[in-house]
Amino acid sequence: MCIQPISSRIARVVVVAPLDRPLDYALPEKLAGLVQVGCRVRVPLGRRQVVGYVIDCLDGNPEKLKPVLDLLDEPLFGEADAIFYQRAADYYAYPLGEAFRTALPAGLSGKGVPPPVLTDKIYSIAAPDPGLRGERQKQIFAHILAAGETSLSDLRGVFPSPYQVLQRLTEQGVLAVREIERLRDPFASQPVEKVQPLVLNAAQQKALEQLETSLRSASFKTFLLHGVTGSGKTEVYLRAVATCLEQRLQALLMVPEIALTPQLVGRFRSWFAGSQVRLAVLHSGLSDGERYDAWRSIARGDIDVVIGARSAVFAPLPRLGLIVVDEEHDGSYKQSEGFRYNARDLAQLRGQMASATVLLGSATPALTSYWRALQEQVTYLELPTRIAERTLPLVSLVDLSQSATSELLSEELASALQMTLDAGEQALLLLNRRGYAPFLLCHDCGATCRCPNCEITLTFSMAQRILRCHYCDFRLTPPETCDSCGGSRMMPEGAGTERLEEELGQAFPEARIARMDRDTTTRKGAHARLLDRMTAREIDILVGTQMIAKGHDFANVTLVGVLNADGPLNLPDFRSAERVFALLSQMAGRAGRGERPGRVMIQTYDPENVTLQYVAEHDYQTFASMELSQREALGYPPFGHLVNLVMAGNDPEKTHEGAVNLARELVRNGQGVELLGPEPCLLSRLRGKSRYQILLKSAGRPALRHLLETLPVVRKILPAGVNLTVDVDPVDMF
Ligand code: ADP
Ligand code: ZN
Repeated sequence: MCIQPISSRIARVVVVAPLDRPLDYALPEKLAGLVQVGCRVRVPLGRRQVVGYVIDCLDGNPEKLKPVLDLLDEPLFGEADAIFYQRAADYYAYPLGEAFRTALPAGLSGKGVPPPVLTDKIYSIAAPDPGLRGERQKQIFAHILAAGETSLSDLRGVFPSPYQVLQRLTEQGVLAVREIERLRDPFASQPVEKVQPLVLNAAQQKALEQLETSLRSASFKTFLLHGVTGSGKTEVYLRAVATCLEQRLQALLMVPEIALTPQLVGRFRSWFAGSQVRLAVLHSGLSDGERYDAWRSIARGDIDVVIGARSAVFAPLPRLGLIVVDEEHDGSYKQSEGFRYNARDLAQLRGQMASATVLLGSATPALTSYWRALQEQVTYLELPTRIAERTLPLVSLVDLSQSATSELLSEELASALQMTLDAGEQALLLLNRRGYAPFLLCHDCGATCRCPNCEITLTFSMAQRILRCHYCDFRLTPPETCDSCGGSRMMPEGAGTERLEEELGQAFPEARIARMDRDTTTRKGAHARLLDRMTAREIDILVGTQMIAKGHDFANVTLVGVLNADGPLNLPDFRSAERVFALLSQMAGRAGRGERPGRVMIQTYDPENVTLQYVAEHDYQTFASMELSQREALGYPPFGHLVNLVMAGNDPEKTHEGAVNLARELVRNGQGVELLGPEPCLLSRLRGKSRYQILLKSAGRPALRHLLETLPVVRKILPAGVNLTVDVDPVDMF
């Protein structure tokens, strides 16, 4: 954080409003020395008052400027961070103030009221031998005498309700008290044990050496660590972080969904247990207060290592030496609404600005990252085998069209499950659809129950006896009779995790079965409890959506089953094969991580499918070159760049007309850019709005950027009530 000269009389402020540039305000005398870069302030804007972020303090004549009204809190970011946030907003064509608001922790937006700062009281001895009478007074006095300075929260752990006695002793001058800030610590109640470092194998060692050279030179360089599942990538991250800290630099480690990988945080905590290294965690599962405290500790420079989900890319680390992006291929690095940044891509920008090493790690790298490695724009590091010569699991494709039964489980998978149970081992079953059944179908006329707001069928939950929309949360009691024909045979069709769990219970009555999906993990800690029960082997079969594929390391899982691989393969998106390859490889990677080898069964109606075949052969390279040559032929990323424009409005006709007019204007300015659309989005109605999209495609970024720069003016052609979202480098195009 910079110390401003007293003479600064102007604050440059990014206000939370749809503006694309900062505004200057006068700093009144009483605030001049206090307001610094990174502070939040309240400022007038038109007739309103809004929250803004100070990005610069300047000299000059403030006379004509409106004044800063209020200072809201201590600095939350530094000058370099401010420049980074601005460049990110610019790249994603998103309003500056909104981008800052997204970058900073939730709880610091909207009304601008931060969560309360918690305090603690520290007691110390003020009068050495006071001659106390009461027994409790003596005990507490003796405790503080022996322990030295002691906090109220610690004393509460030793004595029941000590506060009154402490207050009396303080009034009598026996104890001295001072107040300190107490930071909320989500780990306070979770002790860790120090672990012994492992001896790296040759591949790990070789990868680490290259990383260390870069870390020691403190210059910008990007690496892609391609390591099969169970190859020991995390161990390499840990060592790289340790080397980074030795250079007196800070490290940032990002994971796709940190709430889903408590094991990883545990490994970092135990690696650094007992050292001076200070670790902070940032993710959406924290309370606003916890996040606010973690953020302020980082901004104050009190933290060495930050572990977090995508939003951690904005953490205000002034001496950044290393950014690790674990599972870099994961789609959840892309924010899917509002400020649609991709944290993996921003990590590169940030690394470049900070002269830091960037390490992208994955068992199934994003094709764009892999291609950059082939082009030698990033350095390729490889961990080709599992640790301790463990083999990758044997993957077989089970042909459902040959399967006699119409049940969820083929005979092959059912008998493999039985064998796993008999051996006392565990199984994971993936079905990427929650609820009981994806829809309720009328067996007389074929009608389904659809969401009135969105163009999709409602999912049926048996446990709650309710139909629900997974997009807008619309709920409906299942009708007894069909709305279209009045027939009474409305029945659940297809299967979700809830139904699978039920059927497994019937097929394997002796097995302990549990389910992990968004419906069973809404309560705080529910997810971690399921993982703990799995590790403790209190569950034999865990059923779940793709949540169960992510990064878990269960040594006793020897069977992984994928119930239906076809749905996701047939999505109309040029990335669907890439996604399926990654998901199924990750899923397969959960099997056989311990002593015993694992096996994987993938049920499909299309066993000839090449993507599935490459999954079965663990052949990323051939899959990647096949996909890349198709992308090249079609000009899709990484061979071209995309921007998706979505127009949404209540009135279908007005929305369509707006989209057509916008497209016409864009064509006029869009040399070198191919325009596809407007077309109805795949989800042509969502939350009550009609949606159209225009896809912009170009071989080079400059032409696209040029076109985006015209948008602030061109978008005015859209009628009122039609909203435009701009998605640069889109990941989901529904
Ligand atoms: P990945 O992240 O590549 O899937 P992990 O880092 O989780 O793999 O490693 C898999 C397992 O192997 C972990 O249990 C880890 O403790 C262990 N491991 C990693 N490196 C070594 C090593 N050099 N020697 C022994 N065990 C190791
Ligand atoms: Zn809906």
